[in-house]
Amino acid sequence: MIDFRSDTVTIPCAKMRAAMANATVGDDVYGDDPSVNALEAWSAKRHGFEAALFCSSGTQANLLALMSHCERGDEYLCGQQAHNYQFEGGGAAVLGSIQPQPIANEPDGTLCLKKLSQAIKPDDFHFARTKLISIENTISGKVLPLAYLAQVRALADNKALALHLDGARVYNAAVALDVDITDIAQYFDSMTVCLSKGLGAPIGSLLFGSKAFISKARRWRKMLGGGMRQVGILAAAAEIALKENVERLHEDHCNAKYLAEQLNTINGIKVDLSFVETNMVFASFDTSLNVDEIAKKLLSKSILISAGNPLRLVTHLNISKANIDMFINELKQLIK
Ligand SMILES: *Cc1c(COP(=O)(O)O)cnc(C)c1O
Repeated sequence: MIDFRSDTVTIPCAKMRAAMANATVGDDVYGDDPSVNALEAWSAKRHGFEAALFCSSGTQANLLALMSHCERGDEYLCGQQAHNYQFEGGGAAVLGSIQPQPIANEPDGTLCLKKLSQAIKPDDFHFARTKLISIENTISGKVLPLAYLAQVRALADNKALALHLDGARVYNAAVALDVDITDIAQYFDSMTVCLSKGLGAPIGSLLFGSKAFISKARRWRKMLGGGMRQVGILAAAAEIALKENVERLHEDHCNAKYLAEQLNTINGIKVDLSFVETNMVFASFDTSLNVDEIAKKLLSKSILISAGNPLRLVTHLNISKANIDMFINELKQLIK
């Protein structure tokens, strides 16, 4: 199968599986798992935070962050397109009694600083208490500039708000900008990183923050059923993901550009190349083309896409340039 639906479909490589099989483990709820303890200590330092928490998923890590920054009746400002507003089941509201205040994302994925400021509620008992700004990087494959991050940090400081980064794909941003991960992380009170997307681990996300913040998150994680036992098996995969699979993200970005250029050679398909900054391509299909039909026919050729218009295609470590050529050839035959 050539699977363009997401970078979440990546399969752990042989080296990762061997590390998992050989991991030293213990009961992490007792704090006894040496692999988890080592991962949390090393990764906290590596990302420039006091502490880290290994979580079952990005959704869980974001929820723990929101619940650790905010209390019942507080609110967080986020993008209308934010994953932790749109795609996490309303968890902050359902489980945290926290109100989201979404703000329309600008076309480049940023949140307008003026609109953010205006959305902050005055200290008045009519209103929810604004506590947190949450932003996302990358967002729909787009990279937020470092200068923008500095501006949001200044606004948060000025208004005494905490600042969270949903960094599910923050390594794609760091690689695209050719900066160290700490150059991005330095602006945030907390940050999440997905290990199970482009970084190629089978399961897991990390949440970073201060010691006090992470101990609060650890309590919520247990309450939410996220206290896992011999989870060093997953920490072993996470370590390889972070130490060996970061630099190669550049390849995914080159492949995405190549894919976008090739798509633009097909009549009826249009990709705005200026939005192809990392590993995502959004292709608009002419209304005369039936994307559902195309998806069905591609499936019979072992090529998987999530039908939609625009169509989102994601490159990752299990997609080669040759796979892209095969896909483009099939597509050309279907469309001509
Ligand atoms: C995938 C993703 C998440 C959630 O991760 P899961 O591990 O799928 O729960 C959070 N934020 C963003 C931006 C994501 O892309």
